[in-house]
Amino acid sequence: MSQIFGPVPSRRLGFSLGIDTVPYKTCSLDCIYCQVGRTTNKTIKRKEYISCHDILPGIEEILLKQKERIDYITFSGSGEPTLNSRMKTIINSIKKLASIPIAVLTNGTLLFQPETREELMEADLVIPSLDAVSEEVFKKVNRPHQSLRIDKIIDGLSDFSQEFKGKIWLEIMIVKGTNDSPQEIKRMAKAIEKIKLDKIQLNTVVRPPVEEFAQPVNLEDLKKIRRTLGEKCEIIAEFKRPNQEFYREDIEKGILTMVKRRPVTLLDISRASGIHQNEAIKYLNILKKEDQILTKVYRGRRYYSKKNSV
Ligand code: SF4
Repeated sequence: MSQIFGPVPSRRLGFSLGIDTVPYKTCSLDCIYCQVGRTTNKTIKRKEYISCHDILPGIEEILLKQKERIDYITFSGSGEPTLNSRMKTIINSIKKLASIPIAVLTNGTLLFQPETREELMEADLVIPSLDAVSEEVFKKVNRPHQSLRIDKIIDGLSDFSQEFKGKIWLEIMIVKGTNDSPQEIKRMAKAIEKIKLDKIQLNTVVRPPVEEFAQPVNLEDLKKIRRTLGEKCEIIAEFKRPNQEFYREDIEKGILTMVKRRPVTLLDISRASGIHQNEAIKYLNILKKEDQILTKVYRGRRYYSKKNSV
């Protein structure tokens, strides 16, 4: 499976060429709302999980032949990108190849380490997430690696925001009945005062989560939370740009044929169709919105099936 995917449309970044620097579900967290699946390797150990020699030639090839529009080159994917210990080398090498801005989507849990902060210094935009401020809520919503403490993570984010010269957009994912209490939101507002941010982006569970009990809040609740978090805070709108540029009917047809036969997981679809999970998710979300497929969690794994076949 290639570590490079897209360009895929993203709600925030336009058309984004994705780079996945770790193997499937290698992450320091196991968030209840994760759309990729349960974390199978929960770790804070940084190493060269995917060699930069396996990533850079692919990027170079795409950029040389570039036909499609690319608004951002984005580190994201099926786990936590900063767990890869060669982020700096990869970012610097891409900078030499193209002037396309580089974004890093991170759960921010390793930014308390000076060496991890240093790795991201040449990026243009970093989007860390922070879903909780109290330890108890952190454990509930993010199910972190046992060594992680939320106070230390917030201090790390604050240090990073003082050192980093690019833009920082903080993403907060609100899960109904888990991290949406007025007390937790007030604590959140206080904690983020010490982080230098360009934007705060409020999100909720709009894509099928790994845990069925991770439910979204409604728009009215999000608006209330936005008022508490202040003027930099915005609710992330659905992606609105026409998507014909990326949507391939052969892939859609392949997915529909697959889900018609038997319920399949995201990983099954990604492997069978040869596209990255993050790309497959875009198709599945469209098919779900069009009411063509059903999703169901069974023994901790989400399955997709054809609507009229069940
Ligand atoms: S949502 Fe992101 S940080 Fe959370 S488990 Fe999934 S990949 Fe890891």
